Amino acid sequence: MDVDAILDELIQLSHELGTEERQLAILGEGNLSADCGDGTFWVKASGSNMATIDRSGFTRVRYEVVMDLAALKDPSEEQIFHGLKDSLVGENMRQPSVVTFLHAICLQDTEATFIAHTHPSAVLSILCSQMGASPFQRHIFPEPIPVCGTAPAVVPYVDPGFALAEAVQDSLQEYKHEYGVAPKMLLMVNHGLVALGQTAQQALNITLLAEKWARIILGTYALGGPSYLSAEQVDRFADRLDEKLRQRQM
Ligand SMILES: [Zn+2]
Repeated sequence: MDVDAILDELIQLSHELGTEERQLAILGEGNLSADCGDGTFWVKASGSNMATIDRSGFTRVRYEVVMDLAALKDPSEEQIFHGLKDSLVGENMRQPSVVTFLHAICLQDTEATFIAHTHPSAVLSILCSQMGASPFQRHIFPEPIPVCGTAPAVVPYVDPGFALAEAVQDSLQEYKHEYGVAPKMLLMVNHGLVALGQTAQQALNITLLAEKWARIILGTYALGGPSYLSAEQVDRFADRLDEKLRQRQM
């Protein structure tokens, strides 16, 4: 796919995520990105509304420059501003925002090529509660297992900005160490959701299913709380899916 076609998919994904009735991201909330496969990626510039964004709401940057900046210890705001400006590909691109670091890290450190960050109402009801991300650590019905992964990566609350990207990088590394694979879903406590999709459709599916899952978790608390699937039931379901996938590939 060429870079313009990737941007068109990203715009379509943004409109889906910004649909107001879904309550995933309203006003200027949320941001998203897509890998271009040539050492660059598209990322939403700050301020645009997800529901109405067009080409002018995105900017294209080089990984190398962004990752070199991300590796700095405590860069000044000026260093960040100029560094991000230097990362731009082509002319007439908007200044990238500080969320560009989070997207660069998610695209580089996972298998994802489409990253969608939103603030879904039900997911946030849980992430902002005394329980934090813990209700998502175990499954209560099978559907989220293949879509959202057997377990989410979790990041404690960190001020949005440069430090948050560092915390996300640490969380992704820990996750890989523990599970041997990259996560499909990242939960940021007191903040929101990051869907790590290998396609735009996957990023949308992860977000929609995480929000449905959250509503179901909340619903169970009206009736005594969740009845979790056992680890064996989750593994059996995941194995069955692996088997189906293998058969399809053969
Ligand atoms: Zn956010």
